[in-house]
Amino acid sequence: MAKGTITRDASRKVALVTGGSRGIGRATALALAEQGHDLAIVYAGDAGRAAAVVAELEGRGATARAYRCDVASSEEVDGCVGQVVSDFGSVWALVNNAGITRDGLLMRMSDEDFDRVVDVNLKGSFHMIRALSRIFMRQRGGRIVNVSSVVGLMGNAGQANYASSKAGIIGLTKSVARELAPRGVTCNAVAPGFVETDMTAGLPDGARERYDQQIPLGRMCAPEEVASAIVFLVSDEAGYVTGVTLPVDGGMSM
Ligand code: NAP
Repeated sequence: MAKGTITRDASRKVALVTGGSRGIGRATALALAEQGHDLAIVYAGDAGRAAAVVAELEGRGATARAYRCDVASSEEVDGCVGQVVSDFGSVWALVNNAGITRDGLLMRMSDEDFDRVVDVNLKGSFHMIRALSRIFMRQRGGRIVNVSSVVGLMGNAGQANYASSKAGIIGLTKSVARELAPRGVTCNAVAPGFVETDMTAGLPDGARERYDQQIPLGRMCAPEEVASAIVFLVSDEAGYVTGVTLPVDGGMSM
């Protein structure tokens, strides 16, 4: 049995997935559980949905816990990571998936809306990586996967804040990949296109059809299709892959 306050099978690797209570994060946590990982999922406020995902994970044989933490706060992240390590004994993989949008045209975008999106999406990823880097370096191995976006590669009208945060994640990914490579830690990103989640549920009538026309594969992405790419980057088979940004966008960005 592993050290840590939770009694669990030490042969199972532990993955920490931020934003694991919904959408892409939930699908990723479930897919990692299917691959034999135990799971710490981080959520912002919806404890009920997080608890439901924990139950789903346990149903797949994983040991799982949910942690409420605003990733934009370095204090909360440090406390959360400390608790996860204390509970599980170790962490092998970090998936920085938590993200928000606050869309608006440039001239009307407030400082607050720009800052909040960058603080959650980009700084939140930095906070998590920094908090776990000592553990990854000490264990001379680990996996980091950051969730960027096709919008970080291509830009998008009305999303100056979001696109900046997602482009920043690509630079963060490459820098971390270079810094941690000597210790055997890989750091990669995925750049999803339009995915069927709560984040895109509010698209206005007609927008979905217009987006579909811009996607060579002609349809939106399922959360499970992003999860599959993340699972690969976490896997042993991806041990020689680092610093890449893998588009999962139906061909949009090519
Ligand atoms: P979603 O369904 O809106 O879920 C967002 C998740 O992030 C929830 O679990 C939420 O927790 C959590 N979260 C939000 N703010 C947080 C904070 N400050 N601290 C900790 N957790 C926080 O999102 P999604 O569509 O699955 O997107 C997941 C990631 O993929 C995001 O980074 C997004 O930018 C990226 N992405 C999405 C799409 C898309 O089309 N959906 C495309 C490209 C990239 P609560 O449930 O507690 O609020």
